[in-house]
Amino acid sequence: MATTPMADRSAFPGFPNPETIPHDLVSKYATRGPRYTSYPTAPQFRADIEHESIADRWKAGNAAVPCPGLSLYFHVPFCRERCWFCGCHVVIARNKDRGTPYVEALLAEMRLAATLVDAGRPVRQIAFGGGTPTFLTPAQLDRLITAVKTTWKIEPDAEVSIEVDPRTVTIEHLDLLLESGFNRFSLGVQDFNEDVLTMVHRPQAREATDRVLNHLRRRGCDAINFDLIYGLPGQTIGNSGETVRATIEMRPSRIAFYNYAHVPWLKPHQKLLERQGLPDADLKLRIFGQAYRMLDEAGYVSIGMDHFALPEDEMSAALLARTLHRNFMGYTTRRGLDLLAFGVSGISSAAGTYTQNIKDLTPYYDAIEKGVHPWERAFLMSEDDLIRRDLIIDLFCNFHLDTTAFGAKWKLDFRERFACELAALRTFEDDGLISLQDGAIAVTPVGRYFVRNICMTFDKYLEAEAGQRKYSQTL
Ligand code: SF4
Repeated sequence: MATTPMADRSAFPGFPNPETIPHDLVSKYATRGPRYTSYPTAPQFRADIEHESIADRWKAGNAAVPCPGLSLYFHVPFCRERCWFCGCHVVIARNKDRGTPYVEALLAEMRLAATLVDAGRPVRQIAFGGGTPTFLTPAQLDRLITAVKTTWKIEPDAEVSIEVDPRTVTIEHLDLLLESGFNRFSLGVQDFNEDVLTMVHRPQAREATDRVLNHLRRRGCDAINFDLIYGLPGQTIGNSGETVRATIEMRPSRIAFYNYAHVPWLKPHQKLLERQGLPDADLKLRIFGQAYRMLDEAGYVSIGMDHFALPEDEMSAALLARTLHRNFMGYTTRRGLDLLAFGVSGISSAAGTYTQNIKDLTPYYDAIEKGVHPWERAFLMSEDDLIRRDLIIDLFCNFHLDTTAFGAKWKLDFRERFACELAALRTFEDDGLISLQDGAIAVTPVGRYFVRNICMTFDKYLEAEAGQRKYSQTL
């Protein structure tokens, strides 16, 4: 896995400690809003878009100059049990045989995609996510990986990652993945406190994480992410501090410290957590503030809203170079790729289109059997959408937009084109959250906590969605 040479931490733009944010700003801007893993966001996708229109765009994308590389995502929905905070698309299953037809369907879907997308385009990123990708047996995974390698042209320096559940992954899985070229592992940790884990229905011993971490390191792999969540029942300043301390001791190269998204109208099982008592916004901010301070002191660089990385990690270098990107998988260092997602609920983003796959297994299998792309909803982006997406990604990931360079890139007069939005941004400027310089919009250190609100100014679809409860809290 590529890492940058040891970098000087003072070079990184830091967040201020969230505990220092004035309460009046928190209450003024605490609203519901998108996390911008796409723009336009998923509620805009429509069921009435004809497949031919998507297929035409995907084929035309092969002739784009320069032609974008590819990112491939494989969604494996199966999980042994449901964690009550989970917001992913999962299918609860115990029988490993369920993996066999699913892998065959993924292979068939990949072959279908390759009739539209030139399989000779360089693949620079591959990710297996879920659900639990290691629900698949080593033999099922091996069949899938072999087919991916024979179908597509994988670049030697591609990032090949997988989400791992430390409770169920075996050493045989890990060895197969390492030998197959996987070079980044995301470990689902969530929390180290046993009471918290019991309350959210995810019992997990610290030893399980240790076992995976030690094995990967013994085999020479140090590109390890931890996924942690805050905002869960039972979390306190004391026990969440212990979780962060344990994390620092284990020293993963990246940490995602996610703000739990409570959306029971979309994920009804999350209602179970309400009985246990969810921490309020103030406690959540203090938990995040404490984690921020501890990780900062331990040498981690804060990335975007909720990620931390060691200074020598590629993600820290991307932050410095202002080349961070964001998509359905979260922050990524690989910008400008066409993303093809395979499996139930997968969302592709390619050639100015978004397509979301069918979410349920039976209709997904039916579509694949008929040789039909399993797209359930889609969106065809206009040029205005592409421009706004580019702008929102810059602001969201890199907290800075060079409006002169942006205008030159898209051949537009920025001030004229976004006159209304610039006027609306004045209130953020008055609150000290951005600075509207000549030729740039710069999000201030405090403003980084409000970047979702700032980006919402450029989202032309939000007004039409007003009053509809689709998003989680921005803070
Ligand atoms: S293991 Fe992960 S994907 Fe599966 S239910 Fe738990 S949080 Fe969700």
